Amino acid sequence: MKKLFDDDAFEGHDELVSEMVKGFKVLDADGQNSGIAGHLTARVDGADQLLGHQYGLSFDEVGFADVRLVDFGFSSSKQKQVSPSLAFHVALYQARPDIGAIVHTHPESVIAFSATGCRFNPVFQSALMLYRKVQHYDDYDGIIESSDLGQKFANYLSDGQILLLKNHGLISVGKTIGDAVCAAVIFHQNCRIQLAAMSSGYVSGFADDETQHKTLFEAADFLASEKIVKMRFEQLVRATQKNFLPVEQPEHT
Ligand SMILES: [Zn+2]
Repeated sequence: MKKLFDDDAFEGHDELVSEMVKGFKVLDADGQNSGIAGHLTARVDGADQLLGHQYGLSFDEVGFADVRLVDFGFSSSKQKQVSPSLAFHVALYQARPDIGAIVHTHPESVIAFSATGCRFNPVFQSALMLYRKVQHYDDYDGIIESSDLGQKFANYLSDGQILLLKNHGLISVGKTIGDAVCAAVIFHQNCRIQLAAMSSGYVSGFADDETQHKTLFEAADFLASEKIVKMRFEQLVRATQKNFLPVEQPEHT
């Protein structure tokens, strides 16, 4: 496989970098581009390191050469190349060994939903992927630049997948980049639908009583399974590329 980088530090991480760039494209296409803010990071297996992107670039601008490898301790000079807010990602990675990737974005519908103070209610089937996996963070602690705050986020998130930051945005975590990105996309979609339903003055979600728990958890397990999440991410990636596929010329007779 052709090396993507001259920098030896990236040796062996080509596939992870490729997934990251695809993740940025999917988040951009989904309306989760936050200009110079917002992040997608991935843990480098077996090392206290993560991949982030060049600070100052928006999601649509990130290509292979814009991915940066930094230590959890932010000790190298490369630390200045990524957002200082990635300190909270480190705290989450350290608190949750099961997490391989983290998304933090500020989609307008997510912020609007958070501003209502209402709680996440899965209102369409795919959102059951996040059944009982969404937590809410209603405090505001200023610009996020400390690992202390990351530890606080980790405490609120517990073993969940989405943390909704009131008047701010979302944090989505996943085993893989595809998992974290898909959860962010589905959560964003649910916020739009839940807000639309709320505008009627009434929202009816799935019945969530004892008789339905088994059915809901079974649906959640299926929708969050590795196979379905992988298929969903691959479809989202293809959707970002469809405008660039060669168009066949009609045959003239
Ligand atoms: Zn933010």
